[in-house]
Amino acid sequence: MLEDEIKYLLRKKNAVILAHNYQRPEVQDTADFTGDSLELSIKAMKTEAEVIVFAGVDFMAEQAAILNPEKKVLHPEKESTCPLAHQLTPEIVDYYRRKHPKAPLVVYVNSLASTKAKANYVVTSSSAVKIVSQLDAETVLFGPDRNLASYIAEQTGKTVIPIPPDSHCPVHMKITVDCIKAAREKYPQAKILVHPECTPEVRKLADFIGSTSQMVKAVGSLNTEEYVIGTEVGLLHKIRKEYPSKKAYPATLEAVCEDMKKITLEKILRALLEEKYVVSVDRKIADKARSALERSFELLGVEIPWSKR
Ligand code: SF4
Repeated sequence: MLEDEIKYLLRKKNAVILAHNYQRPEVQDTADFTGDSLELSIKAMKTEAEVIVFAGVDFMAEQAAILNPEKKVLHPEKESTCPLAHQLTPEIVDYYRRKHPKAPLVVYVNSLASTKAKANYVVTSSSAVKIVSQLDAETVLFGPDRNLASYIAEQTGKTVIPIPPDSHCPVHMKITVDCIKAAREKYPQAKILVHPECTPEVRKLADFIGSTSQMVKAVGSLNTEEYVIGTEVGLLHKIRKEYPSKKAYPATLEAVCEDMKKITLEKILRALLEEKYVVSVDRKIADKARSALERSFELLGVEIPWSKR
């Protein structure tokens, strides 16, 4: 069986599979660890494995390589890219920095290494509010994702300038106000959980707003049997697996990230067999991006393994 071959190669090569919560169910089930962007970064930073197979989109694999310059990071499908991450280029960053020279640049983890290299801080959807609220600045530049920018502004009371102003995740934009209203009618007993990449109008109708892992924890801790999940549909697999007695429904079946689904078990097997595609990040860019990540981990109280070496 494919899974057995993969497990055999993982042991033989001292490798691990880290998979994002939006991956296909069979990929999640074969992974050593599944999580949101922050959890996967921490796992990548702390693993003792020599090879990391990253089942996620391009910026996630890049980030694992930035945090593990001495390890081999394999991305099973080069074409698995995040359309949101590509909306904020280093040139756009430079333009807004010139316009707002005093504002710190907070970059969403969903961005490329070359953009992270220019950042003061790098945040995830689960860490953004905690980090921005600690900054000694009332105005910050944030990108890409105008919806997460407005969420951070709502939660911190600070002025958050989205760069570029219209950046958004095309998958979360499919979760509309109409979807949420229809779900509320269909499942009146359910709690509605949505991701901060959803629009402010959608967030206003939700019972809970959080990252994918925060949603999973919410299902575990809330005293309710039914949930409507307002994020990419891949998260339903994890929720149903962890809490089989609870019922979880998608806010819309349209919220599918085709890029996340490009990674299959066949491609993971090929990645292990042929050791491809090896993720490499220019050293200078990686060093600068790592510094921004380290500053952010410090604000979160996350232990950085190499700081003790
Ligand atoms: S769901 Fe959106 S932000 Fe996440 S990888 Fe897909 S396009 Fe990028």
